[in-house]
Amino acid sequence: MTAPDAYPALVTDAKELAVLQSCAAVLGWDQQTYMPKGGGAFRGDQLGLLAKLCHAKATDPAFGERLAVVEASDLVRDPESVIAANVREWRHGYDRATKLPARLVEELARVTTAAQEAWVVAKGKSDFALFRPHLEKIVALKREEASALSSGGTGLRAGDALYDALLDEYEPGGTTAELRPLFASLTAELVPIIQAIGEAGKKPDESVLRREFPVDRQKWFAEGVAAAFGFDFTAGRLDTTSHPFCSAFGPGDCRLTTRYNPRFFNECFFGVLHEAGHGLYEQGLPADLFGTPCGAYCSLGVHESQSRFWENLIGRSRPFWEHVFPRLQQAFPGTLTDVTADRWHFAVNAVKPSLIRVEADEATYNLHVAIRFELELALIGGELAVADLPGAWADKYESFLGIRPATDAEGCLQDIHWSFGGFGYFPTYTLGNLHAAHYFAHMPDPTDAIRRGEFRDVLGWLRANVHTHGRRFRSGGPTRRATRTPLTAEAFSKSLTGKLGELYGV
Ligand code: ZN
Repeated sequence: MTAPDAYPALVTDAKELAVLQSCAAVLGWDQQTYMPKGGGAFRGDQLGLLAKLCHAKATDPAFGERLAVVEASDLVRDPESVIAANVREWRHGYDRATKLPARLVEELARVTTAAQEAWVVAKGKSDFALFRPHLEKIVALKREEASALSSGGTGLRAGDALYDALLDEYEPGGTTAELRPLFASLTAELVPIIQAIGEAGKKPDESVLRREFPVDRQKWFAEGVAAAFGFDFTAGRLDTTSHPFCSAFGPGDCRLTTRYNPRFFNECFFGVLHEAGHGLYEQGLPADLFGTPCGAYCSLGVHESQSRFWENLIGRSRPFWEHVFPRLQQAFPGTLTDVTADRWHFAVNAVKPSLIRVEADEATYNLHVAIRFELELALIGGELAVADLPGAWADKYESFLGIRPATDAEGCLQDIHWSFGGFGYFPTYTLGNLHAAHYFAHMPDPTDAIRRGEFRDVLGWLRANVHTHGRRFRSGGPTRRATRTPLTAEAFSKSLTGKLGELYGV
């Protein structure tokens, strides 16, 4: 087979795999939204079969042979071309899928399925001892997986090389060497400002967020803002779930989900802005390249940057609420007549150290992530025993946030990630925050447009500089090209400390 024949065959294979995966995504979305309880076991059969078909396709030796033919040809001469980028990412995925022994893949699937059930029970009873043997097995298997995958890069600390191999699944090309200084500078900036806010005399009145907000009005209002941002509801919809997410099936069909609390405004509203940010990214990917890497999202960090951009940099900004607050007052007649836009803006930017990551504010959030990054790095590096995790967790919370969990449920059992083997996932949350602020600082100043409720230029910039590239460049790539500077924590720290400094007078 010649390269000009092999490349289109690779595209066909990849698209078939993407369509199979999207079928699983439809079933997964349905499971989290409308499926009756009784459908659980059969849904497991359906998803199990699809997973088997996907794995067979992803590891098909014929795919590997075609890939080798194209790699050796002139088609990949320009490394930034769509073809070369697709080939680079296919190689990355194919190697990851084929380097692991089948025994290890099966054992991981079996162990993590049992671990997730055990985690639910352990969290409910707040008893780490029930989860500990499962986590010990997972850490051992992930270390095995990492050494099978790691290229054993020279000059790396052994633990870092292992962690890099796991991080690579979520943030292709990301490294521990890059993350360490980002987290160090963030922590150095955030810890003192959070302390100063704790001691500040000025406090927001958060009770305004906990008035009566009827659910149907919340839905209508949040959908209106998402549409104003540019989310296309003729190619997407919003449904209700217990753990909100965004799932894009393919071109023209992107599903947002949320949950409602009639006595707390933030839960639905900022949740929808967050998921709509993910959705805007998916709707902006080049549809004609669907199924190939250049038509897919870049990395989890870049995906999260799009959600954080709309949720925090737009949705928690002063100019945004200058425009939106009078409309909010109208949407909930009589509820907020005594509240000003200033008071409201301060309330949605409240900062307070807390034990639970998913409830954390914009400032403390990254410290929750920094703690998990250090702990999972130590677990995978073999420097921390699973048995010592609860104590190490509590110690870190004390030193980073000045608070200590009293129970395992509000400590190291709170997140699902480790139970499914998701080591290397957490840092992508912080990378998202940093990329988002970096983009915002380098795009033409959108302040006046936001104040007028116009988002077309902001979205246009993100479309042109991030969305349209798909996975053509590795995660730092779009950021470096669009802003001509590598990613640092500076833009994030500057914008956040500026905003909070003004609000809290610190
Ligand atoms: Zn997200």
